Amino acid sequence: MQKGQINVQTENIFPIIKKFLYSDHEIFLRELVSNAVDATQKLKTISSAGKFAGELGDLTIQVEVDKKAGTLTVRDHGIGMNAEEIDKYINQIAFSSAEEFVKKFKTKTEAEKNAIIGHFGLGFYSAFMVADKVVLRTKTYKKGGQTRAMQWECDGSPDYTITEIEKEDRGTEVIIYVDDDSKEFLEDQRILGLLNKYSKFLPVPIQFGTEKISETIEGEKDEEGNDKTIEVEKPRIINNTDPLWKKKPAKCTDEEYKNFYRELYPMTFEEPLFQIHLNVDYPFNLTGILYFPKVKRNVEIQKDKIQLYSNQVFVTDSVEGIVPDFLTLLHGVIDSPDIPLNVSRSYLQSDASVKKISGYIMKKVSGKLEELFKKDREGFEKKWDDIRVFIYYGMISEEKFFDRAQKFMLYKNTEGKYFTREEYEKHIKTQQTDKDKNLIILYASDVEDQHSYIEAAKEKGYDVLVFDGVLDSHFINTMEQKESTTRFTRVDSDTVDKLINKDEELPSKLEDAQKDELKPVIERNINKEQFMVAFENLSESDVPFMITRPEFMRRMKDMSALGGGMMGMDNLPDQYTLVVNANHPLMTKILDEKKEGIQDKIVKQAYDLALLSQNMLKGKAMTEFVKRSIDLID
Ligand code: ADP
Repeated sequence: MQKGQINVQTENIFPIIKKFLYSDHEIFLRELVSNAVDATQKLKTISSAGKFAGELGDLTIQVEVDKKAGTLTVRDHGIGMNAEEIDKYINQIAFSSAEEFVKKFKTKTEAEKNAIIGHFGLGFYSAFMVADKVVLRTKTYKKGGQTRAMQWECDGSPDYTITEIEKEDRGTEVIIYVDDDSKEFLEDQRILGLLNKYSKFLPVPIQFGTEKISETIEGEKDEEGNDKTIEVEKPRIINNTDPLWKKKPAKCTDEEYKNFYRELYPMTFEEPLFQIHLNVDYPFNLTGILYFPKVKRNVEIQKDKIQLYSNQVFVTDSVEGIVPDFLTLLHGVIDSPDIPLNVSRSYLQSDASVKKISGYIMKKVSGKLEELFKKDREGFEKKWDDIRVFIYYGMISEEKFFDRAQKFMLYKNTEGKYFTREEYEKHIKTQQTDKDKNLIILYASDVEDQHSYIEAAKEKGYDVLVFDGVLDSHFINTMEQKESTTRFTRVDSDTVDKLINKDEELPSKLEDAQKDELKPVIERNINKEQFMVAFENLSESDVPFMITRPEFMRRMKDMSALGGGMMGMDNLPDQYTLVVNANHPLMTKILDEKKEGIQDKIVKQAYDLALLSQNMLKGKAMTEFVKRSIDLID
């Protein structure tokens, strides 16, 4: 037996590893299983290069819990290590990276510590986060020379021992003596959950426990003539060693993509809309499949996220900084050995290769969308309502995407017709250009509530778009910033004649003095905090009173409610304009009426009708309106 001391420059690092290495102690299992996979893959490579003559045999990696002994074991049949290699890889290299971590860790402030925890890969030594003692038993694949099986043992102090042992099979076994605070890692369900999370797509089969499978017995039938089955207990393999994203895109079928989606998100029942298969090996290495999910109108708190893998090892499902922000709403997987994994998020965001990757993904996604649009416009239009939120979000947040999206971004009007930006301009140009040569795009945010305004606009020969999504007010702002001669105006923001300012107002039938006389009569009968009275010269056949919501104020309020724009705006009461049609015969009738009581009755009735048409007449006001209406019938 050989005794030694891990080459310690700093003091004992184990307590620090235990406490701070990863905020999630569970990571140790990912690290040990990944090491086992690496050792197996290395052996396969050596073997296919003709440098290993023996039998590879069954390479399945085994994970075992022994509750009685209080141990968790990860066993592989990979390359193994001889005594010299243990010294080099475990005592020196692995340890020195552990030591480097501790050194870095000690000089940091509290906040910086938090930033590096969880982003530092320590591999093997992470086992000490959950262990009183770790035993590593290993036998190298090499023949001749120094090839005895060895055992390395360390109890979490800087002292270790190395002993020669008897071990038949090639490979490495890491036995963790789970400490008192970590007993959860002796529960089958906990381990199964972790393996499913981190190891579901590793390239070497991983076995944990057994499962019951029913098998048909050949040639035997039961009384009803069905195949006879028996329950057999088989080793449970927890991973799919050939995940779909590794396959060549040209060889994958739609069915396979759908099945893989189900494999990724077993708890989700919706099918994805379509997918984009990423596959690049220059100038960086990246594979993956991104799915466009069907989203509800209110983008729900995202439970299914993009998963990031490094050579099929699950790393994280928070991909901010790697994928452009708006694409974090997509589902699927990204696998790249080129993304530096064990560094802090802020480092990641400034990393040049990460930026390239992000740019590549965006290009690929916009390319795919353009292709879908060109190949099958009808199909694309059918999907539009579901993908719109991604595309508008992308256009708002990414300049480059904004430009690319010009080719496939759509507008939808109240008749359910779709237009590209260019087509739409052609469609409305003659009718909807104002006197300053601005293109005025009219829209409705609620086709039910704004029905009467939409109809009025259509009658005038205008077209109305539907913008009823959560991000639409931001999108509109972006469009206006990018296109200085385009204005968006909600249909109810003014009377139909004023929606598009063309300098063609009707003459007024009322003198200014008459308006001054009329105004206080109206004002004493309405809610003055909510409404501002404005006279307009509409046609005689238009309604006497009408309610509009000024575009600017309303938009500020919408933006503020969404967390952009000016703060506190959303606490203000809603502001409306009560448009008084100066040309309506009712106005002269009110002026000619000598009795104040009757004047008030007429104004109130017309005002209530305007409120009613906007669904704004409620409670007591409604009761009074009904009473007054009955009086009027009499
Ligand atoms: P990393 O895996 O990042 O290199 P680790 O600390 O996990 O760092 O491991 C250090 C080294 O120890 C590995 O590079 C490898 O050479 C060796 N090693 C660890 N686990 C095994 C194993 N199961 N079989 C063979 N060698 C191993």
